[in-house]
Amino acid sequence: MPNPPPNLSNQSRIDASAKAVANRRARAEVKRKISLGEISIFDAINDPQDAIQKMRVADLLEASPGVGKRRTFLLMSKLGISPTRRIGGLGPNQVRNLRSELLLNKVSLAHGELIVMSGPGGVGKSTITKYLKSHPSIWVSVSATTRQPRPNESHGIDYYFLTDSKFDEMVSKNEFLEWAEFAGNRYGTPKDAVFEQRNLGKHVLLEIEIAGARQVKKVEPSALLVFISPPSWDELVDRLTSRGTDSPERRAARLALAQEEMATASEFDEIIVNERVEEVAQRLLSLASSRRSKEGRS
Ligand code: 5GP
Repeated sequence: MPNPPPNLSNQSRIDASAKAVANRRARAEVKRKISLGEISIFDAINDPQDAIQKMRVADLLEASPGVGKRRTFLLMSKLGISPTRRIGGLGPNQVRNLRSELLLNKVSLAHGELIVMSGPGGVGKSTITKYLKSHPSIWVSVSATTRQPRPNESHGIDYYFLTDSKFDEMVSKNEFLEWAEFAGNRYGTPKDAVFEQRNLGKHVLLEIEIAGARQVKKVEPSALLVFISPPSWDELVDRLTSRGTDSPERRAARLALAQEEMATASEFDEIIVNERVEEVAQRLLSLASSRRSKEGRS
């Protein structure tokens, strides 16, 4: 006896079909972006959405610029990946081999952009960074610092908390993309991880102070420097002075520093006013992907 059809109520049937439509759209969008070179197959592999994880490796490869049906077939046979394999079913070795094979075949896997975000203290940079951390196409750099960890911070997640001598050693070995002193402590961006993640197609986000941003632009002129600005000076003053724990001297020092920081905005490629964190994040993402697709076309 065949199984009887599931007894779905009208509402669950409607819900299921709306979900199927949304999944189809999400999959079509991924293929469109891959074909335009805005994202690579590896961005899809890193996308945790179930609908994306169920896409076939073959379909994504075929959509990749410069690959096509025949090359997809040859690549997959060479790597021993079954033609029906879905990306969620790829093992870490298969992903690594796929990447090396595509690079060997000179298939351009778009590099991620380098986005440097700066702005005055209190403007909300760390909330924006937290929001973007969970986005699959973004990798947030973890800086090294000589400052002491705050109670809620962990080594390797918020910062690499280093001794002065370890920081010195990294400076002497040229292991930082940039480093600077801020409020009596040193902060630096480890170079290798930035390089590695951009190679994997991720946009790398650095949330750093202004002297560091200037250094990045010098060594990497293609970096996108974004200044986050408050909606108004008064609003920034409110935010900076609302912490009741600061002494009047400390408050005055914070305001003076914020004023200096605000004066550097014109050195940046883009200024984004932080009205709503979601909007700032969206704007950063679209700036990064439009740059990448322009590079892909040239
Ligand atoms: P905090 O100690 O409050 O976490 O950070 C102080 C300042 O250091 C912030 O403006 C932050 O953006 C900046 N900063 C964090 N990491 C780095 C880094 O790797 N390089 C530079 N130049 N500044 C950093």
